[in-house]
Amino acid sequence: MPPEHEEIRTVLTRLRKDYPHPGALHLGDPYRTIVAVSLSARVRDEQVLKLLPAFFEAYPTPAALARADVQAIQAKISTIGMFRQKARNLKRLAQDVVGRFGGEIPRTMEALTSLAGVGRKTASVLLVACFDTPAIAVDTHVFRVANRLGWVKEKTPEKTEAALLKIVPSKLQPLVNPVLMKFGRYVCLPGRPRCWMCPVRDFCRFKDKNLKTPPDADDVKQDIARREAALEAMRRAVAKQP
Ligand code: SF4
Repeated sequence: MPPEHEEIRTVLTRLRKDYPHPGALHLGDPYRTIVAVSLSARVRDEQVLKLLPAFFEAYPTPAALARADVQAIQAKISTIGMFRQKARNLKRLAQDVVGRFGGEIPRTMEALTSLAGVGRKTASVLLVACFDTPAIAVDTHVFRVANRLGWVKEKTPEKTEAALLKIVPSKLQPLVNPVLMKFGRYVCLPGRPRCWMCPVRDFCRFKDKNLKTPPDADDVKQDIARREAALEAMRRAVAKQP
């Protein structure tokens, strides 16, 4: 049985208290956000945020990126995985935005996913972060947590997204990715989840809970707080840039 709306609301509200900041790549401006999310595949957000100030100094607009030489783009992002492919995709994306949308990042799922290299996950982040439109971006963390909680029982992120869109009220949908992603990164880990510090374990249907509090529990909590504060500081620094 899928959870009632009230259960989903309670879980998201509790987790929101622990993770009050926007998603790490929610940079306000649509161009900045779509570049950040496009670069983030299989790379830690910290690595993406670190290179973005110099990237946006070189390419402040989609038009500037569309004109850029692919090798020059590669040089700006060479610290992250798959940088050659990502540089090619970014240039094509920028050319699409300039050629078909007058240099403005489009605002609908259909138009966003028509851009070169943009899938539903990236489009969903944009809709929530920049256009105030309900959507649920399902990455590896959201996929794992939603299935462990028992909200859905699906084998792929794509099916999980479709199932979540049916059961999560539209008002709450914008919360799902930012909150579950951080929670999955810090607490509901891929290997052994830290159920001993989980604020929503009373709602969780995962059978193999790890409830034994380790001796270094305080250190773990402090480390999470430190990492999250550092990530938010990096996000703000990039989001603030002119
Ligand atoms: S109880 Fe454990 S498995 Fe369930 S959501 Fe919390 S951390 Fe994840």
